[in-house]
Amino acid sequence: MSASAPITQDVMTIPRKLPEGPLNLVGLTREQLRETLIGVGTPEKQAKMRTNQIWQWIYHWGVRDFSEMTNLAKEYRALLADNFVVAVPEMVSKHVSADGTRKYLVRIAGGHEVETVYIPETDRGTLCISSQVGCTLTCSFCHTGTQKLVRNLTAAEIVGQIMLARDDLGEWPEPGVGSGEAGPRLLSNIVLMGMGEPLYNFEAVRNAMNIAMDGEGISLSRRRITLSTSGVVPEIARTAEEIGCMLAISFHATTDDVRDKLVPINKKWNIEELLTALRAYPKLSNSERITFEYVMLKDVNDSDEDARRLVKLIKGIPAKINLIPFNEWPGSPYERSDWSRIEAFADIVHKAGYASPIRTPRGEDIMAACGQLKSATERARKSRKEIAAEVGLSTGLLPQ
Ligand code: SAH
Ligand code: SF4
Repeated sequence: MSASAPITQDVMTIPRKLPEGPLNLVGLTREQLRETLIGVGTPEKQAKMRTNQIWQWIYHWGVRDFSEMTNLAKEYRALLADNFVVAVPEMVSKHVSADGTRKYLVRIAGGHEVETVYIPETDRGTLCISSQVGCTLTCSFCHTGTQKLVRNLTAAEIVGQIMLARDDLGEWPEPGVGSGEAGPRLLSNIVLMGMGEPLYNFEAVRNAMNIAMDGEGISLSRRRITLSTSGVVPEIARTAEEIGCMLAISFHATTDDVRDKLVPINKKWNIEELLTALRAYPKLSNSERITFEYVMLKDVNDSDEDARRLVKLIKGIPAKINLIPFNEWPGSPYERSDWSRIEAFADIVHKAGYASPIRTPRGEDIMAACGQLKSATERARKSRKEIAAEVGLSTGLLPQ
């Protein structure tokens, strides 16, 4: 194996209790947790304290076993164990790219799979998490967009991706050994840029992000969480009010004609409606800019004229333009713009006063880069179809 070859590792996991078993405490808001504890007989007067204690065990210390919650009475721990579990989704496999990017294949209830990607950088570590299995939208340059929506993830499955990444990175503090806050964090930032459209799963995403931001747990600042949306206009104001995180918009085109083709949700809410909603995003200030994501597609949206139109359109919005070199996937209908074209585009945007970083593709060798995610089960199904076509058989004749 060459030094730069990606590493694949299958992870053996202990089977967890099925969803019809005891209730999972992960993913409940503080209020839901309090009510749940009262529901099994916790006296109302104690419920707030018990909620705090259990919350810290789960989200600060990363404990999954009630018997380790040592500041709770033995009988109470037994009561909890009889009624509840603390469960995160199962990690089925882990691929490590030559550049250090880790892609986790995560199995959720029902046997579905999503992907979560950890991207280490010198000054931060970003976890890219999924919010849906597949996507209802069909952006023509996105691999996830070729997969139908299977279902929304629950809050437990969303925050669970953060927890299992911390498991893998060994980033939970050890009880009794400091607070776990020494040194920079391996997992310091979250981007909701995996599979799915987060604003079509608003409540679960909101609850999961509020758990991740809670100061007595995972404790990530709202400024270290970025939600990326294709432009679900009616949910944008709510994102500011109920989550308060940073916002990224999959903009990708400067005319409605082109955006209709690339990001079909544009037919519902066009560029003008989207920009109006963004201008009203209440947290806007120069230090909290909106990120405009712009995928660079050769001869589609990458001309100097596009760059000039883009800066005109977003005038007045504190913004940063993130240029994403297109990541190819098997059968993708576009090509990545030439590097010199991307730089010329970036230059125009930069001269107009906007930061215009070009996103370095990460984890391409393990299909972990933006827009390459797609569940392995779906991929397997596709390849069977392809095999069938090649040998002239109907898929019914092939083993499933
Ligand atoms: N559904 C959300 C978040 C997931 S996609 C959204 O659309 O914003 C995260 C980012 O990757 C989006 O900006 C998306 O447009 C971009 N993307 C999708 N496919 C891509 C590809 N093949 N190459 C580069 N970027 C891609
Ligand atoms: Fe869905 Fe985002 Fe992909 Fe569009 S770019 S298909 S909204 S995941």
